[in-house]
Amino acid sequence: MASRPRTLITGGAGFLGSHLCDKFIANGHDVICMDNFITGDPSNTAHLFGNKQFSFIEHDVTTYIFVDGPLDNVLHFASPASPIDYLKYPIQTMKVGAMGTHKALGLAKAKGARFLMASTSEVYGDPLIHPQPETYWGNVNPIGARGVYDEAKRFAEALAMAYHRYHGVETRIVRIFNTYGPRMRLDDGRALPTFMCQALGGEDITVFGDGSQTRSFCYVDDLVEGIYRLLNSDYSDPVNIGNPEEITILEFAEEIVRLTGSRSKIECKPLPEDDPKVRKPDLTRARAVLNWNPKVSRSEGLKTTLEYFQKKIAESKE
Ligand code: NAD
Ligand code: UDP
Repeated sequence: MASRPRTLITGGAGFLGSHLCDKFIANGHDVICMDNFITGDPSNTAHLFGNKQFSFIEHDVTTYIFVDGPLDNVLHFASPASPIDYLKYPIQTMKVGAMGTHKALGLAKAKGARFLMASTSEVYGDPLIHPQPETYWGNVNPIGARGVYDEAKRFAEALAMAYHRYHGVETRIVRIFNTYGPRMRLDDGRALPTFMCQALGGEDITVFGDGSQTRSFCYVDDLVEGIYRLLNSDYSDPVNIGNPEEITILEFAEEIVRLTGSRSKIECKPLPEDDPKVRKPDLTRARAVLNWNPKVSRSEGLKTTLEYFQKKIAESKE
């Protein structure tokens, strides 16, 4: 019998990484999950312990990564990802984007594995082109508070392309736009968990600025399917994956208040430095190269996510 493909997922105990562990196991891979829990949570993969296709290594990927035996794929998802996380851990964010990506690429090269990295719509910064196609080079403030994340990811993309061109490593770059779903941390500070927790707790909803800034929210299952297709494609330039349904943050807050049946009021707070004013993926490339389109509507995705948050909040009170 042919052996199963072996896939390493760095940041596998995080929100997206844990869904990728599930997807790859379901698709017949042996998955090695690697994480140091700086922003991840062991409960995200607790259901996989005992599964013979799953193993876990606690490790900080900014230092040398050792994996015994062959590897077919390295998925590099380790990095603080929410603005409050990367503002709390600025140096670790730069290190995991720079040194962590270097180690993950070195491992992929040594094993002859395919490499896929989680990049972000933040590489476009506060964009001057809308929606954002992959050909746009972005508008990033390198020395602003968000620069630690944006520039780390831009460096990581450049390094992946260098390994591709110079060493011939098969590299894939997914530029992820705001993704949500079960296993987001309740306190990660991103708009969706914050608004849901505030609405469920009857607290004011903290909208930053006047709430006219836009985002486009993608449900996690759609993202994970896009990533799976990208890994299995032969395309090495970056590909946007996200949902093109754009909404202002104020409308989004109101939508969550309605969905939860809450009586919370909206409270405007100062807009953080360099907060992008608009964001929406141009999906032309994802459609052409991957034959991929998001399928889950926001109302459907928010409903499932709300059930998860209700359960988590109830557990935390037990
Ligand atoms: P997350 O914080 O839930 O997951 C990140 C995981 O990486 C955590 O489990 C954390 O402990 C781990 N990690 C961080 N530094 C590490 C290190 N040095 N060594 C080992 N593990 C480390 O965040 P997420 O939302 O799941 O994001 C995952 C990836 O996707 C990140 O690279 C992020 O930049 C990217 N991304 C996410 C989104 C989104 O909307 N969720 C958007 C764009 C890009
Ligand atoms: N935001 C907000 N209130 C909050 C958290 C976030 O108004 O309590 C805004 C934030 O300023 C941004 C948008 O919601 O304009 C999305 O923020 P998030 O942190 O989810 O992700 P970003 O797209 O900024 O990385």
